Amino acid sequence: MSDVASRRDRLVEVYREAIGCTRCALAETRTKVVFGAGNADADLMFIGEAPGAEEDRRGLPFVGRAGALLNELLAGIGLTREDVFIANTVKCRPPGNRDPQPVELEACRPYLDRQIELIEPRVIATLGNFATKLITGDQAGITRVHGKPQTHALGGRTVQVFPLFHPAAILRNQNQRPLMDADFAALSELLRVPVPAPASPPPPAGAPAAAPPGDDQLDIFSP
Ligand code: URA
Repeated sequence: MSDVASRRDRLVEVYREAIGCTRCALAETRTKVVFGAGNADADLMFIGEAPGAEEDRRGLPFVGRAGALLNELLAGIGLTREDVFIANTVKCRPPGNRDPQPVELEACRPYLDRQIELIEPRVIATLGNFATKLITGDQAGITRVHGKPQTHALGGRTVQVFPLFHPAAILRNQNQRPLMDADFAALSELLRVPVPAPASPPPPAGAPAAAPPGDDQLDIFSP
């Protein structure tokens, strides 16, 4: 089994565990667990704050108005949701859309860490203050840190964290849209930076070329 297929299978196991999760009180009020969705082998992973009402109803992340804006911003840099993986700091909706509580974040964190570990994104774009502070462990506000990559150890690897405004904040304040467009352009550039080649000897002359990526690289997780 290829490395990609094995990581995807392990992600499916994490998904199966998460959809029955009762580790915190959010399990009592949620309609559906919002595990996350997208490409299980994505270079780019987004982390939002928490599912809202529409996400809770459908079991999918960013499917409301903020999600429509996220789709538009992705299209602007030539990507679709099928190219990326989208998750949240917690997998269940906090009642009334309140901030997730520390006990809920702590209970849910192992799922997020497993997702990062198995998807192996090169870049994690955090959406908004809440996700950015949680993932970077730094209390600096999003207005100061947006659009600048940071290097962090996450999921057992070194990852570029790229803080972005939350799409819902852009919907509330359209004046910030040009900043968001510029940040997405910078994100696209960051994704273009080649990954340093692993130190391995070149294949012998006449060896077959590496197989092209298969369909198994695309995997939409939905309940
Ligand atoms: N806002 C978030 O932070 N996450 C979602 O999934 C939807 C809206």
